[in-house]
Amino acid sequence: MKELILNYTREDLESKVKPKFRAKQIYNWIYHKRVDSFLDMKNIPQNLREELNEKYTIYSSQIVSKQISKDGSIKYLFKLHDGHTVEAVLLLMKDTQYNEDGSVKHLQKFTVCVSSQVGCKVGCAFCLTAKGGFIRDLEAGEIVEQILQIYKDNNIDSNRRVNIVYMGMGEPLDNLVNLTKAIKVFSEQDGLAISTQRQTVSTSGLSSKIEKLAKLDLGINLAISLHAVDDELRQKLMPINKAYNIASIMEAVRNFPINLRKKVMFEYLIIKDINDDLESAKKLVKLLNGIPSKVNLIYFNPYEGSPFKRPTQEDVKKFQKYLLDKGVICTIRESKGLDISAACGQLREQNF
Ligand code: SAH
Ligand code: SF4
Repeated sequence: MKELILNYTREDLESKVKPKFRAKQIYNWIYHKRVDSFLDMKNIPQNLREELNEKYTIYSSQIVSKQISKDGSIKYLFKLHDGHTVEAVLLLMKDTQYNEDGSVKHLQKFTVCVSSQVGCKVGCAFCLTAKGGFIRDLEAGEIVEQILQIYKDNNIDSNRRVNIVYMGMGEPLDNLVNLTKAIKVFSEQDGLAISTQRQTVSTSGLSSKIEKLAKLDLGINLAISLHAVDDELRQKLMPINKAYNIASIMEAVRNFPINLRKKVMFEYLIIKDINDDLESAKKLVKLLNGIPSKVNLIYFNPYEGSPFKRPTQEDVKKFQKYLLDKGVICTIRESKGLDISAACGQLREQNF
């Protein structure tokens, strides 16, 4: 397998090609003009084009299926070079709005949810991805490629503001080196220029890795998949809690460089009769005390054979109201792409 050029930040690339300014041109061909082959990079000298072509590849994955939801979200299944598959989802957050004269008032808003691993080691009881076990980490370039292919497939302009959430398959902090590479590549000014402030890493709470990420001070947003407020229940739902309990996560979050405008997001998956009671809401308020945080409530999405049930809307609303009354910012996640199983926790490897 040739090396993936999408693994490289601009600086990495500058150390590989001479003279250095070729790196900027190559970035432009890849991320703006989106050529498929180095041989088409017209302002690059022929010998360098051929050398690049021998050593590297631009694309290494193929889109093998695409499902479009009623709400406009699109779920992509990518086949990687070794035959494994991962999913990524283009979420349409808001439709384009027009003024009376037909001119555009607000352009539609996109968020892309990307995968960081094939499968996952964490093994949460409620998660479909966990069912297939862990297969391998994705290379940085394979993470980058999910977005680049989605841009290409939808003709999304490279200057558009797009948000990235690392909430697809896998535990991003379990693949920290490649994850940070991908974060940097996405934020390159000559590339897609997706600022780190528009990128959110969601983790099941690997405290030691949260601390490492904090030290890198990338400016990204952090989301913690909390889901339970006491260790006993959390351990049952998320075995990782044995290694990193709630207190250790809170400690790591307190030391994280928090973007005060965005805050740390705490994801709380509500499962019927398991953690949907107001006693849990009360404990949650206590836990978050003093942390610039916001809570995102997620309905458990059942899948075939899942041991848990979706909570009632009434209970979720009550839970939200309790938090809001206590002054905690709290939203309920809209389940995008529910009809195409593109919603959270419904991504898994597929045969086709
Ligand atoms: N591994 C990371 C990121 C991927 S999972 C993490 O756990 O944070 C993304 C989100 O989907 C997590 O908050 C996860 O708890 C949630 N999720 C998993 N299974 C789900 C299900 N069946 N229904 C709803 N959300 C689920
Ligand atoms: Fe892994 Fe996240 Fe699923 Fe847990 S919820 S098994 S950490 S992908």
